[in-house]
Amino acid sequence: MKINGQKNVKIAIQQKGRLSEKCIELLEQAGLDFDSYKRKLYAGCRNFPLDILYIRDDDIPEYVADGIVDLGIVGEDVILEQQVKVKKIVPLNFGFCALSIACPKGSAINNPKDLNGLKIATTYRNCLKKYLKRNNLKADIIELSGSVEVAPSLSVADCVCDIISTGETMKENNLAPVVKLFDSQAFLIADPKSLEIKWKSEIIERFAMRIESLVQARKTKYVMLNAPRQAVDKIIAMIPGVDSPTIVPLAKSDMVAVHSVVEEEIFWEVIENLKKAGATGILVSPIEKMII
Ligand code: ATP
Ligand code: MG
Repeated sequence: MKINGQKNVKIAIQQKGRLSEKCIELLEQAGLDFDSYKRKLYAGCRNFPLDILYIRDDDIPEYVADGIVDLGIVGEDVILEQQVKVKKIVPLNFGFCALSIACPKGSAINNPKDLNGLKIATTYRNCLKKYLKRNNLKADIIELSGSVEVAPSLSVADCVCDIISTGETMKENNLAPVVKLFDSQAFLIADPKSLEIKWKSEIIERFAMRIESLVQARKTKYVMLNAPRQAVDKIIAMIPGVDSPTIVPLAKSDMVAVHSVVEEEIFWEVIENLKKAGATGILVSPIEKMII
């Protein structure tokens, strides 16, 4: 599809599943105008040279590696399992989970060595195979296409190797994690061949910049506060800004206003310390985009 005679790059996102809503939200917040109807297979953007394909997440790494699409959004777990050649370009800070081996509670399986000789059910055959080989373990891999967590209760396997995020599903099935293979989050990925083509790489760079600025902004808050002038040095040391915080004198000569950004992860801790150091009137706002 062409807009004003311009060629477009293509991105594949999950049609229906855990990453779908987050992907649509991310693309919309990046300023793209497109149809996000459920059950749609394809949509063009009205204001950016990008076409969106809605497909199953298992197909995304291969579509990208084969050049059917130029970009994709998919979990690292799927990329690792499929062992295809794609370039991870932006970590997206959502879709957090871990691939873990979990065993029935109360079983005598407590560490990796206990896995020797057992049957492990999984949809992540390649990742499990690699882990067992690397750790010199010998176990039977029972490859399933889904609902792996019920395998031990049906005596199909002794334990499972599956994705865990909150651990609720495992708990409901009376399973407890024994070993973590790796952590995973969603990534924007690209076909390395597309990055070699000038017109494509230019669009991909513009798109990636938008996505990166959103991910950065979501990780940070804008903080404004008033501080006694004599406490300013102490307060600045607590809130390292992008470069350094902005300090504005107030009408009351013994007070200044401090503006800065604080990372979401350490946000509450910083605010508590700021209050202790004498900060008052602390205002916090979300940041929409952050271009560094
Ligand atoms: P599809 O039908 O597209 O093949 P699926 O059932 O294989 O979907 P989902 O369960 O929707 O996949 O999970 C998609 C991705 O979301 C996983 O590959 C993983 O990266 C991530 N994920 C898995 N579990 C969670 C979770 N509980 N919370 C957040 N992200 C998760
Ligand atoms: Mg899938």
